[in-house]
Amino acid sequence: MQAKTERTSGSHVPLRTCVVCRGRFEKGLLTRYVCPATATTGAGLVRDTDNRTPGRGFYHCQSEACGRKFPAFAGWRKKCKGEENVQTQGA
Ligand SMILES: [Zn+2]
Repeated sequence: MQAKTERTSGSHVPLRTCVVCRGRFEKGLLTRYVCPATATTGAGLVRDTDNRTPGRGFYHCQSEACGRKFPAFAGWRKKCKGEENVQTQGA
């Protein structure tokens, strides 16, 4: 038996990708944003301060550069539209 270490291979720490630097980080270390309720043109991502808003999330890490570049990340627009279509179209 080995001594207990902090890095147990059995523990599942949820990892999320920073959309700016594509780095993988523990979810708790990232700032989460979600699709705006109404995907109208010009709407921006909504900061999810509680980490509890349902729906697709987008994350940036704690790097100052990533925080600054995050508003320029436009990849969410397509994805948020896709989510909306799935919900409104149903079958
Ligand atoms: Zn980053």
